[in-house]
Amino acid sequence: MTTPSAQKAVYLISTFYKFQKDENPEKTQLYLEDLATKTNCRGLIIIGTEGFNATICAKTPETFEAFKQGIREYFKVPDLFFKDSKSDVVPFRRFKVKIRPEIVTLGDTSLVPFGHDTRNNHHLTPTEWNEVMKNEDHVIIDTRNWYETKIGTFKGALNPMTDKFTEFPQYLESKNIPKDKKVLIFCTGGIRCEKGILEVQKQGYKNVYQLYGGILNYLNEYPNDQFEGECFVFDHRVAVDQNMKASEQYKLCPHCGQPGKTEIDCKRCDTHEFICEDCAQIEFKKETCSKNCAHHYELHPERKAPRQIQPFETEEW
Ligand SMILES: [Zn+2]
Ligand SMILES: [Zn+2]
Repeated sequence: MTTPSAQKAVYLISTFYKFQKDENPEKTQLYLEDLATKTNCRGLIIIGTEGFNATICAKTPETFEAFKQGIREYFKVPDLFFKDSKSDVVPFRRFKVKIRPEIVTLGDTSLVPFGHDTRNNHHLTPTEWNEVMKNEDHVIIDTRNWYETKIGTFKGALNPMTDKFTEFPQYLESKNIPKDKKVLIFCTGGIRCEKGILEVQKQGYKNVYQLYGGILNYLNEYPNDQFEGECFVFDHRVAVDQNMKASEQYKLCPHCGQPGKTEIDCKRCDTHEFICEDCAQIEFKKETCSKNCAHHYELHPERKAPRQIQPFETEEW
């Protein structure tokens, strides 16, 4: 029989954003830090004069709701769309607010979708999205970076292989897609496409559509349909699977930070780790659990060390 204490804890996660003018991001930062302390929430929030972009995590439904209520009240956004998921992995080690010139970096501060992120700039719901994917002539483009697209994407999607979103405008130009073509764009949670679609429209495409709420919203409604594989996320879950659960296949490669699923036992310290397929080809990396072990193993392959403590093993929340 399983006792409640033997069950894994479930953490509540929410991803949300909005483009709206903020005259005083420093004040917003103080407010958010205070809110996180009071509600014991963790996560990462990017803020700036153009709005906020967040993923947060709570331990209880009460503190989860209290944090969201704090967001609704402070930013005056009673109808904000929170994309929720659950995880039995602690997704964040701390709470952090970063102030940036752009809350998602396209590199063009003139393209800000103020007033356009409330479903009024060619947003498709997951149902409408499926309709187009299955029945209409279209081109579909993944706006995410290469390491995100590697472990999962929509059927037939073009993959720009970008390192950064700032490379997307140039990629689109180079593709020479006919301007009257129906173009679908998507990203993880929808925010990149809010800016991305302005760029696509600027380049002369009128028949372009974005996936509302991104892959995360799509998987909530249509697991195992047009999206294949897992969806990369920017926290310690690494990715979510078709059922929005923290990935069981992938861990972040300790050498390079890409998703990895090659299991190894470290030659220096015997720690069991997952490394990525690229590092699995590289001498010293393919045999070790960390940058530290790779370095020492290269110098002294015969020396052993105690097992490396993973950051999460020692942390209380
Ligand atoms: Zn790697
Ligand atoms: Zn090691």
